[in-house]
Amino acid sequence: MKRIFVALSIASMLAIGVFAQDYTSKFSEAKMRDRVKTLSSDAFEGRGPGTPGGQKAAKYIADQMRLAGVQPGNGKSYFQQINFIALKADPNTKLQVSGKNGEKDYRFLDDFVASTGEQKALTKTKAELVFVGYGIDAPLYNWNDYKGSTNDFRGKYLMILVNDPPATKDEPNLFGGDALTYFGRWTYKYEEAARRGAAGVILVHTDRSAGYGWNVIRSSNGNWRYEILRSKNDKTPFLGVRAWATEGAAENILEQAGLNLKDLAKAAESRDFKPVKTGLTVSLDLKSETKHITSPNIVGKITGSDPKLRDQYVVYTAHYDHLGIGEPDKNGDKIYNGAYDNASGVSAVLGIAEVLAKMPIKQRPKRSIYFLFPAAEEQGLLGAEYYSRHPLVPLAKTAANINLDGVNFVGKVDDFIALGANRSSMIDQIEAAAKERKFTIKDDPDPGQGFFFRSDHFPFAKVGVPAVNFSHGDHFIDSSNKDATKFLSDYTEKYYHQAGDEYHDWWDMSAMVQEAEFALAFGIKIANAPTMPRYKDTDEFSAPDKKRFK
Ligand SMILES: [Zn+2]
Repeated sequence: MKRIFVALSIASMLAIGVFAQDYTSKFSEAKMRDRVKTLSSDAFEGRGPGTPGGQKAAKYIADQMRLAGVQPGNGKSYFQQINFIALKADPNTKLQVSGKNGEKDYRFLDDFVASTGEQKALTKTKAELVFVGYGIDAPLYNWNDYKGSTNDFRGKYLMILVNDPPATKDEPNLFGGDALTYFGRWTYKYEEAARRGAAGVILVHTDRSAGYGWNVIRSSNGNWRYEILRSKNDKTPFLGVRAWATEGAAENILEQAGLNLKDLAKAAESRDFKPVKTGLTVSLDLKSETKHITSPNIVGKITGSDPKLRDQYVVYTAHYDHLGIGEPDKNGDKIYNGAYDNASGVSAVLGIAEVLAKMPIKQRPKRSIYFLFPAAEEQGLLGAEYYSRHPLVPLAKTAANINLDGVNFVGKVDDFIALGANRSSMIDQIEAAAKERKFTIKDDPDPGQGFFFRSDHFPFAKVGVPAVNFSHGDHFIDSSNKDATKFLSDYTEKYYHQAGDEYHDWWDMSAMVQEAEFALAFGIKIANAPTMPRYKDTDEFSAPDKKRFK
């Protein structure tokens, strides 16, 4: 008995030894350090899109891929060039609202902000205002705010609440319960209204629903805003004007029509809600300064080993841009180096690319692996958004996206966060790789904040590609690296999007390698699985996922 028992456990250990491939020794800690140090050095000037430092970073990443033996991802090129337009609205702009009881002016920045969807120096709009509640059309939840007799929204101004309708006692999982769904995001509201042909949208801001104060909207709209420059043959619907109003201004506007915002918002919490005509006319002449820049996504690939599966791809992403040169901090430092955000992710993905490139062809994963270093993430996920609209691998052949944005420099952990992995079947491969390494996998620690919608994996999810934002947890196996531990715990307050997000020699490269190795390991499992992962039917991204294959 005893003998058999021992023999069995040896056999099962052997089985694990055969299948649980550990790639740690294939990574070079020295190269990992050199790349993160180089990209976040002052010589790269914070890698702002369209700046010399940004161009230098793009060239460096392409060179590192070439030197490692990674093939170009766009024909013979490592670049996918993108044209951007930057816009800055005239702060003297007024929003005029008129009705039976006269006309009222609302002030830019104090009462509202607006940007032109037309990308023109002057956008003139004058249109009837309709209140459409949450502005959501979601068959998944049997919810449509655009129903009823007022169903022609072409050329109209729509007033819309942000966030999604609250769950109820009867339906605790309505719109994800406490979690924020994409239907609650302001980007969705604009997209849906544009699909309906609206001329403009006024979103109602409340601290509570937006999750941040008016000052955040004020500062991001009072400055240069970057957008992907629309080409002449781009048929994507757009709005003439995208505006936000303060809660107070929205109340005042509706009051001009004898309506009450609180009553309307209450009515909007029900499936029975129908759009409400206000009888008001909104007019806005929006002047904007404009400038044009170009900045590339950087792309590479490794061809898979299976002739039948190698036209399918697992895509790794890590944005390389940061905020460039900006306002000096209290030490006079004006270079926003973006070491953790996201030179670390770029260095980790370059490491993954190099390990795969050096693998003998027969040992490579069955599916191919694609590497995308998106531009302009900090400007609103623009590089990844552009890629999702102009994919270099067909979406129906894109198995999954694994995004790294902020890689562990403190010390090894035994927990990782796989944000969004639970939405699709890719959680199976992640859990399997974690089990082999005795890691715990956690999901979104704070789903109400909508973190899933805030990095480069999200544009992939939107077009139906199973995606995960992969990052380290905070359960450090060895917490002796005091400088690093302190830096991380102070990060949000002192270093996030500040000049002080810099590389230090006390960065622990074994932690970066650990995270990259795990990301590689589950990526390979996805690439070797018999079928591509798919979104679960109950998930909001299941519909676009199905659409990819039509
Ligand atoms: Zn980032």
